[in-house]
Amino acid sequence: MPTIPKALLANNKIFYPLDFGTMKKLLTLLSLVFLISCSVEQKKLRNYKVPVYGWLGGPGQKTDQELEEQFSDLKNRGIDGLMYNGGQNPETYKRVGRIAKKAGLEFHAWIPTMNQSPRPELKPEWYAVNGKGESAFDKPAYVSYYKFLCPNRPGTFEFLAKMYGGIADVKEVDGIHLDYIRFPDVILARGLWDKYGLVMDREYPDYDYCYCDKCVHDFKEKTGVDIKTVEDPSQVQEWKQFRYDLITGIVNRLSEKIRSKGKKLNAAVFPGPNSVAKKIVRQEWDKWDLDAVYPMNYNDFYLEGPEWVGEVTREGVQALNNRIPLYSGLFICPNPENKTEENDPENHGLIPSELGTAIQVSMEHGAAGICLFTPNRMTEAHWVEFEKAIRKKYKVTASK
Ligand SMILES: [Zn+2]
Repeated sequence: MPTIPKALLANNKIFYPLDFGTMKKLLTLLSLVFLISCSVEQKKLRNYKVPVYGWLGGPGQKTDQELEEQFSDLKNRGIDGLMYNGGQNPETYKRVGRIAKKAGLEFHAWIPTMNQSPRPELKPEWYAVNGKGESAFDKPAYVSYYKFLCPNRPGTFEFLAKMYGGIADVKEVDGIHLDYIRFPDVILARGLWDKYGLVMDREYPDYDYCYCDKCVHDFKEKTGVDIKTVEDPSQVQEWKQFRYDLITGIVNRLSEKIRSKGKKLNAAVFPGPNSVAKKIVRQEWDKWDLDAVYPMNYNDFYLEGPEWVGEVTREGVQALNNRIPLYSGLFICPNPENKTEENDPENHGLIPSELGTAIQVSMEHGAAGICLFTPNRMTEAHWVEFEKAIRKKYKVTASK
C-alpha cells in the first residue's frame, strides 16, 4: 500500500488530486495534443521540399504583369529564389525585385564579374593579357565576348565594388551572385573541345592569363621568378597560387563591401574545387568568403552521367567542411528528344529521366539544395520528375 500524504486526508476521507471526470477530460486533452503534434509532423513531412533556386535572365520587354505571372508560376512549381541576370542598372533590379518579393521569391542579382564588355570607365590596360602578350580587350580567347579584366588592377576592383555596391543598395535585392569570377578557361571542359576544334591536353599560352606588366612585375617581386622567361609556366606551382589568390582577393574584398550593406554574397563556380575549378579556371573557391556557393555541376560538359553530380557535390561539401551551404547547379536539356543528335553541348543537359537522379545524388552527398539552369529550359516532363524528386527526404551519406 502506498502511503497517502497527510494533506490529502480530511475527515478520514481520501481526496485524490483529480476526480474521475477531470482525469478523463485531461486524458482527452492530452491525446488531442498528441494527435495534433503528430499531424503537424506529418504536415511538415508532406510540405517538405528540397530548397531550389533558378538562374534566370530578363526582363527584356516583359511587362510587370507578365513578370508577376512568370514568378508566381515558378513559385508554385517549387522555386524558392532567383539568381536574376538583368544587366547592371540598379533600377532594373528594383522593378523586378519588387515583383519577385511579391511572389514570395528570394531575389539575388546575378551579374558577371571579370568578364566585362569595354566601356569608357574601363581602361584598355585593365584587361587581362595571355601568354603570347595578347590582350582580352581586343583579342579575346575562344569567343568575341571573352573580354576578361585583370584581377590585379586596382581599377578593376574599384569598378566592380562600385557597380555591385550600387545594386546591393537596392532594398529588394537579397544578395549579389557573382559569375565569371575567374580567369578565362586555360583548359576547356572536355565536352567543348569538338565545338571549338581544340585538343586541350595541356595549358597553352593562347588561353593562359594574366601576363600583363603588373602581374609579371608583382610575381617577380614576390618570388624572384620572371615568369616570362620560364619555358613551361604550368609547372610553376607558385604562379598558379598567385593567380588563385588574385581571384580570392577580389571575392573577399567584395564580400566585405556587400556584407557591410547587410546583403549576402554568393557565386556560380566550376565544379570541384580541386577536380575542375582550380585546374581550368583558377578558382580556389573553398577559400572564398561567401554566404553560399553554387557549383555548375553540368555533367554533360565533362562527358559524365548524372551520378557524377553526386561525386563533385561531395568533393565541394568536404572542401568547404560545411562552412557554408552548397547548392548543386544542374544543367537542363531544353529539347530532350533531340539530345542524341545534338552536336552543341550548350543544348545538352539533364533529360527528364536523369533529373531525379541528379537531385537525389546532390542531396545525398550533402548539398543544401539545387539550382536550375534554367527553369525556362524545363519541359513539362522535367517538371513532373522534378516535383517527385524535391518532395523526398534524402539521407546524407557523404563520408567526412
Ligand atoms: Zn594582370
